[in-house]
Amino acid sequence: MSSLLHVDNMHAWYGSSQALFGVDLDVGEGEVVALMGRNGMGKTTAIQTVLGLIRPCTGEIRFSGHDIANLPPHRIARLGIGLVPEGRRCFPNLTVRENLLSASRRGEWTLGKTCGLFPFLRERLDQPAATLSGGEQQMLAIGRALMTNPRMLIMDEATEGLAPLVQQEIWSVIGSLKHDGLSILLVDKAVRELLQVSDRCVILEKGRTAWTGRHSDLSPETVERYLGI
Ligand code: ATP
Repeated sequence: MSSLLHVDNMHAWYGSSQALFGVDLDVGEGEVVALMGRNGMGKTTAIQTVLGLIRPCTGEIRFSGHDIANLPPHRIARLGIGLVPEGRRCFPNLTVRENLLSASRRGEWTLGKTCGLFPFLRERLDQPAATLSGGEQQMLAIGRALMTNPRMLIMDEATEGLAPLVQQEIWSVIGSLKHDGLSILLVDKAVRELLQVSDRCVILEKGRTAWTGRHSDLSPETVERYLGI
């Protein structure tokens, strides 16, 4: 499978403090990859470095054949990486419609198609995002990322802090996006659901890739050693 995202030996620093020490990570076309590891192992840092939000960094970072290691975040996003950030981050004072349209780029994900995936949004288009529940705001955040018409979606803790029913709904949306062939990189604490939906896992330990493979190859010892389960 050809890699849409290819990361090789990525190192990154917060100022003078080094946080990544050799991350290797590939996401193929149409592949769903789970980025895993215990708290503080570097998952969010790895995502943010790929997106150009953390610099300096070294190593190879390529997206769709482009060297993105030194590009500014807006250029990286424009190449087709959509982010559903940790903690939702919709614009609370903008309406649902404004939230969606402000993210919009040309492609199949229009307002109509996004409301087709999340029908409740259609009735709320003229309400401020702040009036939505936490779960609804999370779905709006997913909708915003889709409206950028990404070739790859990155979801950082998309189900965190939500009621179990809403979490289930989000896992089923992720399943349907996968079915449609979207490439997805996922970070989430719900290990069982994560393993169910993903094709492959990459496990980080202290800022470096410690294990990568299919979840059918994950031994109980590996799970205990790197995920503490
Ligand atoms: P979690 O599951 O808790 O979100 P994570 O795997 O996403 O953890 P990161 O948040 O990427 O881990 O943290 C990786 C390392 O970078 C940790 O040692 C953390 O203390 C450090 N770190 C994170 N954010 C900053 C920051 N803004 N400044 C300095 N160091 C940071």
